[in-house]
Formats: sequence, structure tokens, C-alpha cells
Amino acid sequence: MKILKVDHIGIAVKNLEESARFYEMLGIQSTGSEVVAEQNVKVSFFPVGDSEIELLESTSPDGPIARYIEKNGEGIQHLALRVDNIEAALEELKAKGVRLIDEKPRYGAGGAKIAFVHPKSTGGILLELSQRED
Ligand code: ZN
Repeated sequence: MKILKVDHIGIAVKNLEESARFYEMLGIQSTGSEVVAEQNVKVSFFPVGDSEIELLESTSPDGPIARYIEKNGEGIQHLALRVDNIEAALEELKAKGVRLIDEKPRYGAGGAKIAFVHPKSTGGILLELSQRED
């Protein structure tokens, strides 16, 4: 398993357009927004250097982001690390006894292959592994 970089930091927000204004004020331009139907979220990415900030707004009152905000309020929801081979990374973590939320990768925003690792195994952080070509 090779970790390539911090891919992005995911931030749960109630209103994507309102929250985007802050980052736009900082001079960061969004690359556009996208609905990921499977996860009931609308996301928008703000590139910063070699990483990105991902804003996530729920598209359903019982989606994972809506439930997160209900419990914790708005804020940082996950950390995403880019890996070179997500299937190999998941196999390796599983063999090491790490608790996975996704045993197999699924497709996230921008067609990236993603999988989540359980906070119980990461010291309280919802960790996303991501693989994409760019
Ligand atoms: Zn993410």
C-alpha cells in the first residue's frame, strides 16, 4: 500500500452555496458541483495546492451527511488519503485487522474509487481511501 497524498478534507455543510462563499472569498475557485446519488450528497471541490476541500450537502434528510450534522453539527467529516491501488490497500488493511466500512471500493465524486475505514480503527477519524487517475 502506498499513500500518495492527502487527497481532500470532507466538510459537512447544511447549504453548499452558502458555505462555498467563504472559500470563494479566500480566492479558491470551485471545480463545480456534482450529485452522488448513491450517497445522497451533493459535493463541490475546491482545489488547494495538491489537495482539495470537499463540501458535502445532504440531498436527503436521512442521508449520511444529514445524520452527521444532526449529531455533530457542521464541520470536518472525513479525511481522504490518495492511494495507488485501493483494492490492494483494502486487502492489506483487512489483513492487519483494521475495521473497514467498505470492503470493496465504490465510485465517488469524479469517478474516483473510494472506500471508508471505520473511526474505531483510526483514532476517531472517518478515513476515506481514494484512487483516481489525474
Ligand atoms: Zn470525500
